[in-house]
Amino acid sequence: MSIPVTQLKGVGARTAEQLARLDIYTVDDLLFHLPMRYEDRTQVVPIRFLQTGQLGLIEGRIESVEVKQGKKRILSCRLSDATGIVALRFFHFYPNQVKKLQQRPLLRCFGEVKEGYQCLEMVHPTYELIEEVQESELLKDHLTPIYPSVSNFNQTQWHSVMKQALLIELPELLPEKLLLHLKLPNLNQALKIVHQPLPSERLTEIDPSTHPARRRIAFEELLAQHLSLRALHQHSQQHTAPIFEPENDLVQRFMQQLSFDLTKAQQKVIDEMTTNLHQAKPMQRLLQGDVGSGKTVVAALIALQAIAAGYQVAIMAPTELLAEQHKNTFAEWFEPLGLKVTWLTGSLTQKKRRNALEDLILGITHIAVGTHALFQDDVKFDKLGLVIIDEQHRFGVHQRLALRDKGKQGDMYPHQLIMTATPIPRTLAMTAYADLDVSVIDELPPGRTPVQTAVVSDAKRDHVIQRVHASCKQGKQAYWVCPLIEESESLQLQAAEDTAQHLTERLSDLKVGLVHGRMSSKDKELVMQQFKNAELDLLVATTVIEVGVNVPNASVMVIENAERLGLAQLHQLRGRVGRGAVESYCLLLYQAPLSKIAQERLGTIRDSTDGFFIAQKDLEIRGPGEVLGTRQTGVLNLKVADLEKDKGLFAEIPQAGQWMLEHYPEQCEQLIQRWIKKGFRYGVV
Ligand code: ADP
Ligand code: MG
Repeated sequence: MSIPVTQLKGVGARTAEQLARLDIYTVDDLLFHLPMRYEDRTQVVPIRFLQTGQLGLIEGRIESVEVKQGKKRILSCRLSDATGIVALRFFHFYPNQVKKLQQRPLLRCFGEVKEGYQCLEMVHPTYELIEEVQESELLKDHLTPIYPSVSNFNQTQWHSVMKQALLIELPELLPEKLLLHLKLPNLNQALKIVHQPLPSERLTEIDPSTHPARRRIAFEELLAQHLSLRALHQHSQQHTAPIFEPENDLVQRFMQQLSFDLTKAQQKVIDEMTTNLHQAKPMQRLLQGDVGSGKTVVAALIALQAIAAGYQVAIMAPTELLAEQHKNTFAEWFEPLGLKVTWLTGSLTQKKRRNALEDLILGITHIAVGTHALFQDDVKFDKLGLVIIDEQHRFGVHQRLALRDKGKQGDMYPHQLIMTATPIPRTLAMTAYADLDVSVIDELPPGRTPVQTAVVSDAKRDHVIQRVHASCKQGKQAYWVCPLIEESESLQLQAAEDTAQHLTERLSDLKVGLVHGRMSSKDKELVMQQFKNAELDLLVATTVIEVGVNVPNASVMVIENAERLGLAQLHQLRGRVGRGAVESYCLLLYQAPLSKIAQERLGTIRDSTDGFFIAQKDLEIRGPGEVLGTRQTGVLNLKVADLEKDKGLFAEIPQAGQWMLEHYPEQCEQLIQRWIKKGFRYGVV
């Protein structure tokens, strides 16, 4: 049982409220709130040994006190010990304070050391009068932890509550055998070290997150996450789901009308899924496949299995543009088979929406294609058997569950297929997506010509414009992408509009179009359609075209401010070209000067077209937060562990989790209880 923080001395309702803002409700939560850094106040430093830039604790006598009058009043004191003199400066002070210092007391002082006019100085140091202190706030026997905080809750308060919390021993949930194997300390040792480290732990000198004590806690958290996702998976397997028929007339007719053969990789993932789909348990599968690897046709084949078994299918895409494209593809593929494709997004007229909803609930619709609008409350299906989510690796687990529950009918859950073009390295997937089975399409359809990529300084913009012009004159089409560089969408829009206007003027013999996120879906579609029909030569776009848009004749892409984009995102953007047989190229424009990391990253994109390799590199250079897109949405809700810094721990997690489940099921449950907040726990969601 965990103890509520309100049982600690000095934690009343108000304090509890402040702590709640940091998700701290229990003593466990409190102890897992780790310091961000440490200060060494365990030793008094002789003034002569102070170094600028350093935080230092000194002791000495006040020699002189002076208040400079002027526009701004400044209190300056000189403090000396046997080895030297330091100036102390204060910009905010009380008359009382001056009076006290004028009595030339012995002072203990902590602050950052700076270069001064005549001697070193400290600006606004914390200090105490040695004669007055009972228990020194400044001179400590362990390093002083500094906690991330919310306003009004200061470090002294943190120290006070932590001190009390540390008197409470938390139950050890990791077996000793495991700790020995991993060479990690036990929990209470680890907590003691992170909250009250001795100077010998050297935590002011090293990155605290690399210390074994902290890794111990991070490991426990990652393990708890993993176990919770697995429990979730197990839990979902207790539900029933429809049984599909892998071999059926629809599938055969579809294959006959398809103009290409499936690749081996496509066939493989279909087989993997089919195994799920003719059991009466809900499939929860993540399908990874590089841009252009042909995920859509895989989705179609699975959808046909559902439809043949008498169920409806919902396909959701993150943007209207992508949804639109799927609608067209599926209409083209499925309508000749006599199937009803229904379109549902937020921008439908009342009347069309009403018709669509009616088709869904009456079971007239075989497959519904749309955006998030598909999962609004008033959308009801007759017999939903399969939910497909495209390009949505940024979904957290609770969103996946919410979607799943939408499709629930009685005790029957639909199967779920999540498709992503962002390859996620296996160990990471095992941690972040342990509730999903993973399939990978690891080969591209034949006949693709790799895109030639060059990295070009923005200073050569004119040259780039000429090159684009020449290509378009040869009948090729081009994208000019202005990605998000400003936080604000309107500024981004401005940049795209300016670029479009500029290019229109410069290239007056070309037809230039503009598409951006603020346009109505109708206008977007119109422009995209014009581009598809080759009525436009050059399409200026914000990143709305990031994923999925398919225009085979587009074979040139310019990406501005490429150095600001993630590799995965660049790779996806670039995947818009090179879809036809023509030779394609991609120009990455950057603003000089490029940092070393940026050079390395752009070099990776230039030299490789392999999405998995690129993702692996991105993982190495920028870390998993970037790869998973956790920065934006928090795929995992981590308190202590850092996907980036603790990536070394991932490899151990799946095996440790398996072993724990087999031998220590009770502890597994307790780990989940301890770490996973209620709202995220299965059964509650
Ligand atoms: P993505 O995986 O990026 O969603 P798509 O499903 O849009 O890729 O497929 C990209 C293109 O490749 C489409 O034009 C599709 O028709 C085509 N394609 C898919 N599978 C094959 C295949 N086995 N052989 C040839 N072309 C294919
Ligand atoms: Mg796609």
